[in-house]
Amino acid sequence: MQSIDDSEVPARPASRVVYVVSEELVKASSLLPSNRNRSFLVHSLVAALDLFKAVNPDLDGQKYMQVIRPRRASPRELLVYHTRDYLEYALGPAARDSQDQSQISEFGLEDDCPPFHNMHEYIQLVAGATLTAVDALKDGVCDVAICWDGGRHHAQKSKASGFCYVADCVLAILALKKNRPAAKITSTSNTLPTITTRKPRVMYVDLDVHFSDAVSQAFYNASSTASSQILTLSIHHTSPGFFPPSLLSDLSNPDDPAFDPFTLSLPLKAGASNRTFARIWPIVDGVEKTFDPDFIVIQCGVDGLAGDPVATWNWCLGDGEGSLGSWLEKMLREWRGKKLLLGGGGYNSANAARAWAYLTSIAMGNRLPVDTDILEHRALPLYQPSFTLDVPAGNMRDENSEEYLLEVERRFERIREVLSCRLSGATGSA
Ligand SMILES: [Zn+2]
Repeated sequence: MQSIDDSEVPARPASRVVYVVSEELVKASSLLPSNRNRSFLVHSLVAALDLFKAVNPDLDGQKYMQVIRPRRASPRELLVYHTRDYLEYALGPAARDSQDQSQISEFGLEDDCPPFHNMHEYIQLVAGATLTAVDALKDGVCDVAICWDGGRHHAQKSKASGFCYVADCVLAILALKKNRPAAKITSTSNTLPTITTRKPRVMYVDLDVHFSDAVSQAFYNASSTASSQILTLSIHHTSPGFFPPSLLSDLSNPDDPAFDPFTLSLPLKAGASNRTFARIWPIVDGVEKTFDPDFIVIQCGVDGLAGDPVATWNWCLGDGEGSLGSWLEKMLREWRGKKLLLGGGGYNSANAARAWAYLTSIAMGNRLPVDTDILEHRALPLYQPSFTLDVPAGNMRDENSEEYLLEVERRFERIREVLSCRLSGATGSA
């Protein structure tokens, strides 16, 4: 595998990047019970690193990133996926005042998803922020759109789950799928170019340590033999008792009657490190090459990084083959489709801020060194003792054996064959 610094990696023209944020979004998102103040830390660090102000010499001296304020998603937009009952409850006064335990349980607003101050604002603003980023991609305003407050991959159609109250990933995929058919030009050296159109394809890649249960389930269809516009691929940890329980979270198996080649699952064992991620990159890249998406939604949950309280993987942020930073750089440089970068899990808030600020610099094409000093700003004390961007590896042993990784490789070789057949059977379906 090539390193990200190899000169053989084709250079792309500078990407146009949109970053979605506003004061009201930060205020609402900072009240999320599972991640209090995290949103504030993330955007403050991006600002402290001067990424909002940086000017790109390749874009006629324009700024690298255009900052766009999110709109609120309307109830009608939320109804594209969520049920009316859930929305009426979660957006209305009942969610704050209700003592009706059966309703509280029905809508999942208990345990790890308690109602919280301005929850209705949060739901509408986070969904609105992700949809604002989607609009920027669909309207051709940018090639990469960033919404670190999004990425709520456990929220279900009719209930909150796993710290997630709104299914912004699903809403984004549904909106991108509706884009106008894309023209595709194919030719060989001996033939004239052929222009075909096809419905846009959307690939969802989930890097969070937890399985993307709600997103995968939303598009799962084992009974179809046709092609699909949407492919989901979750890379995560799964083991008995590890959230979320799902029949879809095991390693995808083409021999299983319930197999759907458009709903893919690649679980990694405890301690997954840069070494393992370097090893599986060609597998993930192979799926992208086979599916050839027009849009790629990347859920950049960072709870698999070393130092996260979930303490399951040992992934590093930057520097080195297989790191999260190197993965994102490859996806941005080598994958053709437009990218939507979303947040997700990440329970060491300072590390989540480091990670998303660092990934922002990569998206801008202006990757900061990981030993960059974090300069004076209100949250500075939280970055001690290193006061740098780096999230280095811990001491956990990587339990992903060569034998297991070979099995993953073998499975995905077959999966690509099945996928290829299904896609070719549907060529020209637009
Ligand atoms: Zn997670």
